[in-house]
Parts: sequence; C-alpha cells; structure tokens
Amino acid sequence: MSARPLRLTIAGLVLAPLLVLSLVFGIMLIIGIATGQITVVSPAQLTISAILIYAATLLVLGWTGSSNVRELEALGTLDALTRLPNRSALHVDIERSSQGRDEVAIALIDLDSFKQVNDHYGHVVGDQLIQQCANLLREVCGVEARCYRLGGDEFAAVMAGQAAGTILEGMCRTLIDRLREPLDVGERSISVGASIGLARSTAEVRLCSSEMLRRADVAMYMSKRGGKMRCTWFSESFDRRRERMRAIEDEIREGIAAGEFGLAYQPLVNAVGGRIVAVEALLRWQRRDGKMIGPNVFIPVAEDSGLINTLGLLALRRAVEDAGRWGITLSVNISAAQLRNPEFPIQLGEVLEETGFPAELLELEVTETCLVLDPVVAERALDVIRSFGVRIVLDDFGTGYASIGFLRRFRFEKLKLDRSLVMLAGEDDGSRAMMLSSIAMARALNMSVTAEGVETSEQADMVRAAGCDQIQGWLYYKAMGAQEVDRLIAAQNAPVLPANVTPLMQGKNAGT
Ligand code: C2E
Ligand code: MG
Ligand code: MG
Repeated sequence: MSARPLRLTIAGLVLAPLLVLSLVFGIMLIIGIATGQITVVSPAQLTISAILIYAATLLVLGWTGSSNVRELEALGTLDALTRLPNRSALHVDIERSSQGRDEVAIALIDLDSFKQVNDHYGHVVGDQLIQQCANLLREVCGVEARCYRLGGDEFAAVMAGQAAGTILEGMCRTLIDRLREPLDVGERSISVGASIGLARSTAEVRLCSSEMLRRADVAMYMSKRGGKMRCTWFSESFDRRRERMRAIEDEIREGIAAGEFGLAYQPLVNAVGGRIVAVEALLRWQRRDGKMIGPNVFIPVAEDSGLINTLGLLALRRAVEDAGRWGITLSVNISAAQLRNPEFPIQLGEVLEETGFPAELLELEVTETCLVLDPVVAERALDVIRSFGVRIVLDDFGTGYASIGFLRRFRFEKLKLDRSLVMLAGEDDGSRAMMLSSIAMARALNMSVTAEGVETSEQADMVRAAGCDQIQGWLYYKAMGAQEVDRLIAAQNAPVLPANVTPLMQGKNAGT
C-alpha cells in the first residue's frame, strides 16, 4: 500500500509542469498568431509542437492511469499486510483448479491465542506476528501449494493434483511443528499456535469453493474444540453434530424463557467430623416434556453459543438467594466465557450487593481450560473478583496439565481433586503417589484441598489420611433441592445432633 501515494506524487510532479507548459505554449501561440508577432517560427511548426506536448501529456496520463488500475486490480486480490493472495483470489484459484480431474485440497489455518497477542503487545506487534506467520506459511508451502491470508489471523493453503490432500496435510503438520517454537518478533519471542481444518474435492465429488471453505472452517472449529494445535479432516458427521447443537441451543433459549432451569446443591463435608461446611450449586434442566437434561449436555452448548452468560448469571443469583439462609460456604461453577466477559465481575458485584450475600462465603469454581485459553484476561477478571473477597477454586484438578507455575500464577484458595484421580488413587500406587504429591503441593502453596466424587468409605479414609480438608461425593450426599438443604442445615444446627451424621443420605437424593 505504501508505494501508491509516492507514485501518484511522482506522476503529479511530471504531469503538472507538462500541463502548465502546454497551456502557456498554447496561449503564447494564439497571442503570437493574433498579433502577427510570430515570424521566426512558422505557425504550423508551433501547432505541431503544441500537439506533440498535448499527446505527451495524454501518454503520461494514460500510463499512470493504467498503472494505477493494474495496481488496484492486484490490490483487489492481494492482502495488503502480508502481500499474500486474499479470499477472492482463493475462490478464483479453487474454481480454476477444479476444472480438470485433479484432487483439490484446502487447509484453513486459524492462529490460536492471537487475540491475546494483540491485547498484550498491541496491534503493531500483532501485525508483525501475522507477517512472520505468513512468511512461515510461504516457506512450508514452497512452490507446491498456494497460500492465502483470509483476514485477521486466518490463513489458507490450496493444493491441486494427485494426493494433494495427503501432501497438504503433511505441510500442515510441519507448520504446527514449526509453531511449537516461539517466533521472533522484533526483540520479543512470541508463542502462537494453529488450529487447522482440511477439506477436499475430487473429480467424483466436486465441490464449489465456498462449500470447500465452509467444510474446512467446520473442521478447523473441531481442531479448536479438540484442544488446538492439530489438523482435522472434515467429516459429514460434523455437520450433523452442528445441527444437533443448534437445536439444543434453541431449546436452551426457550428453556431459559420458560424458567426450566433450576439448581441442585451438593453438600461438601469436613473431612474430619463429616459436618456440612459448604454446598456446590449445580445447574439442572427439567424440560417441559419432563425430560431431565444433565449439565454435561447443555453446558458445552451454552458455552459455545454464549448463552452461558445468561445461564451462569441466573445460577449465581439463584444460588446466593438460596444459600443466604444457610450460613455456609457456597460454590458456584464459572465457565471460560463468563470469565472472558468484562461484564461478569460487575454483575457479580451487583448480585452480592443486591442480595447482601457475604462475599467471604462465596467460592467460584473455575477449570484449568477456562484459564489457559485466555490467561491474561482471566487473571485480570480474577483479580477484580478477589477484590470483593470472593475465593477462587480450581475444579477438576488432575484432568489437565496444571503445572506448579500455573498454580502459583493464579494463587487459588482451594484445589478440588477430580473424581478420576480419587478413583485411580484407590486402585494403583502410581496414582496414589500422584494424589499425595498434589495434596502436598497444594499445602505448600497455602491452598485447601477437597476430594471430589468420593463414593466409598475406603476412598474417604484414603483422602482423609492424605490430608484433604473437605470431601464431596455420593458416599455423603448427592445433589439435592434447596428445601432438602434447608432440612439438613436445620438438623445440623439443632442443639442435639443425631449421633452419627456420616454417611447420612447415601442414595437418597438420586435423580436431582
Ligand atoms: P463439577 O463442577 O466437577 O461438579 C461435580 C459433578 O460430579 C456433578 O455432576 C456432581 O453431581 C458429580 N458428582 C459429585 N459427587 C459424585 C460422586 O460421588 N460420583 C459421581 N459419579 N459423580 C459425582 P453434574 O451435576 O452432572 O455436573 C457436571 C458438571 O457440569 C460440573 O462438574 C460442572 O463442570 C458443570 N456445571 C454444573 N453446573 C454448572 C453451572 O452452574 N455453571 C457452569 N459453568 N458449569 C456447571
Ligand atoms: Mg464444580
Ligand atoms: Mg469437578
């Protein structure tokens, strides 16, 4: 883009004097002829000179004009930042390559965490990183595949020929491997990943360019969902899955409006003594047709569609309203999308203020994936949340890759050992050692520990001996309605407690 104004300036510099000269020359000619002063040079000669100057002007105008048109044409198919062909060029190329019997393959490449780079280092660095990635892509594609920038942090590569798909997939894997090393941007080293979707069209099943792009996009999305830094080939089943998700999304929207969502509460007990010290709020969806849908089905859809912001706020408000009368700690689960939503800390503050629920009795449970997706934004949100006095709990610990550095960075007040870790620890020595070291690490970092999913008294004895502070699991209580918690808390607070409070409600609250 930077060459254009310069060229116009040069053109202007050439054109302006020429035009002025021809004008002056023309006027002098007319005056000279009219007054009879032109004698040395014949009028015919002067006329020819004027016509020549006029023709030269026209030529210069024509040259700069057409060169600008050529440039504009190129700009229409070229990305200004990377000088890679753009989306329009990609469509033209795919249509052209699809004329014969060649296989045509497309890879859609979306950078992971690019938004954070922009947020963190600013757009100038972001642009430099895009240029670096474009160069890397050019290098990986070589002369065999053509690469494009589709916009933002989205690139594509197209290849035609025998086994084009296989070769292109190989290139994509190389690209992902190369991106495992940070890229040098100025004095910085920046890590960025890529999620890639692949689609192909063959002579037997010929697809138009927009359908190929759509399929690659769907596959790319599956790479993102699958954990990023991977390539995925499009499959028809992805479309069916998307349709199902969209249908559930509509039902969730209707369900929210019809008040079909409610909460169940699962008590957490003190590891020593078995007293109920907290409850975890768990969303439940009782549809009009009577069907009960579990959170594992609707939460992922709500997260994808952004509906989790509404649902999560609904859960938070309802939970603090209910738990206000229990006087024990309340745990509420929070999704990544909520943490990314800049409105969330404000809404939380409003809910606390309106309900008068004591912030020090509220814990928010977040998962590791929720934080690694956008650590900078998450950290900022957690700081605001903590400033209210609300504690942060790392949920499902043991299912991800949380390092000591990660735990130190987010300074969780509490760690919840996942059910899978508890189960395995009861079965083999290796997992048991892992659980013990996790507890020791949490202790060293001043975090309290809850064991989740405790179903047997052997597991309870094990986690208690290992040093867990609290236990949550069906051995003690299943999730239950608010009225049942009312009764349990009333019984617990009654002057004379039943002799043995644990295990109390085993199996009684199934289905809530
Ligand atoms: P989670 O936060 O790890 O919640 C614990 C899950 O384990 C709950 O399942 C609970 O019923 C189940 N559970 C507890 N003890 C036992 C046990 O001894 N054995 C077995 N087999 N399961 C046990 P639930 O209610 O189906 O929730 C599943 C997940 O859905 C939750 O996992 C949480 O990640 C998500 N979720 C639930 N409510 C909300 C919410 O309000 N907001 C968000 N963002 N996520 C929620
Ligand atoms: Mg939880
Ligand atoms: Mg959990």
